Amino acid sequence: MVQERQAVSQIPKRDENFSEWYTQVALRAELADYAPVKGFMAIRPYGYAIWEGIQSYLDRRFKETGHVNAYFPLLIPESFLQREAEHVQGFAPQVAWVTHGGDEELSERLAVRPTSEAIILPMYAKWIQSYRDLPVLLLQWNSVVRWEKSTRLFLRTAEFLWHEGHTAHRTAEEADQECRLILGIYKELLEEVLAIPVLVGIKPSSERFAGADNTYTLEALMPDGQAIQAGTSHYLGQNFAKAFNVKFLDSDNQEKYIWSTSWAVSTRLIGTLIMAHGDDRGLMLPPRIAPYEVVIVPILGKEDGKVLPAARELAKSLSARFRVKLDDRDAYTPGWKFNEWELRGVPVRLEIGPRDVAAGQAVLVRRTGGGKETVSLHQAADTVKRFLDEVQSVMFRRGNTDLDAPPGMAGTLDELVRTLEKVKGFVRVGWCETQSCEDTIKEKTGASPRVIPLDTKATGTCPVCGMPAKVFVYYARAY
Ligand SMILES: [Zn+2]
Repeated sequence: MVQERQAVSQIPKRDENFSEWYTQVALRAELADYAPVKGFMAIRPYGYAIWEGIQSYLDRRFKETGHVNAYFPLLIPESFLQREAEHVQGFAPQVAWVTHGGDEELSERLAVRPTSEAIILPMYAKWIQSYRDLPVLLLQWNSVVRWEKSTRLFLRTAEFLWHEGHTAHRTAEEADQECRLILGIYKELLEEVLAIPVLVGIKPSSERFAGADNTYTLEALMPDGQAIQAGTSHYLGQNFAKAFNVKFLDSDNQEKYIWSTSWAVSTRLIGTLIMAHGDDRGLMLPPRIAPYEVVIVPILGKEDGKVLPAARELAKSLSARFRVKLDDRDAYTPGWKFNEWELRGVPVRLEIGPRDVAAGQAVLVRRTGGGKETVSLHQAADTVKRFLDEVQSVMFRRGNTDLDAPPGMAGTLDELVRTLEKVKGFVRVGWCETQSCEDTIKEKTGASPRVIPLDTKATGTCPVCGMPAKVFVYYARAY
């Protein structure tokens, strides 16, 4: 029994050491592992299965809304990266360079893409001539490299997987609508699939993507009170169109620059998922994203001749509707398996022993807690469906309580400092929109401005200068 508890007992308590708890869950649930080059990680099959779930959901939604997949090169000539001034400034400190091809030194350094605007827009310049060629609604699923100094599994790694959407439009309004459409799809993914409530809005200009005129963002709140950016959608205006000379002939016979967007979510979402839902027993996965929704553990007694066939039969019938894992390994005890599948976050476990077989039932246990339930084998599929739906909504509501709590408000700078120390989460601040007031708040509180909610009218005054507030900004400490 000592050995059975080991898998879980090696994870620190979540509320005692959140950071070490996070790392141990990512490693021990076999989501990812450290790689030989510092800052890089290997994503293990169980972690990759979560990514595949995110991919397949988004792929369907993107295609339903008229987007198509393409692929662009890994390497970007340095001169291309330099064409958009803010863009290169923003990314230069993190770029990995290729300087040699074999033994031969290259005449121009090549950047390993940190993002792909500078390689995609030049292609658009070749492909777009007329208003009839617009809009272009492309994305690619790929990885990018950003040489980060301090890294953490999934949350910040030197290479990460994502998709990057790059669209070209005839008008500014159309490009802005595209940004908002994508923001809506990301919100669906976060809330309906990953069961993580988010605040959506725009970033203050200091936090925008390098080269963007506007950055839309989704911000989630983690149990330690820190915010995390879950996805972004950038309105790039004509900045990149001008840098790469992407023009089209409009129906009025005028030559015009296109309006472009770019947008992404990355494997960082897996880190967000671990933090948002995990507990002292390990990972907790919402059914809609869990690689296995149900694990079946046969409990083999002395007269076990009927248990395994019954467990196999149950697995077979449930597999028609759910992602099912039958854990029939005989080298491990049921207790060991319970711990392991709890650590790996499977939403529903079915136990079936000799007495259950005789009674035509199985015992159902939810990862979210709430006691054991008896399930008739005849109605197992419908009952499992009901419990999975319940687990999904319980997990979303848990996160929602935190985000729905009225954010702390602050009238003066002193009050704001005190509130941010006290409140585990977002604090709403009226802002006059001058940069120096934002800088003062960041410096005095250590928090950053996360999001300006959409379509909200501000009231009151800026706590720094006392001028009327033009917008509300949600501040929080952040990852
Ligand atoms: Zn101010």
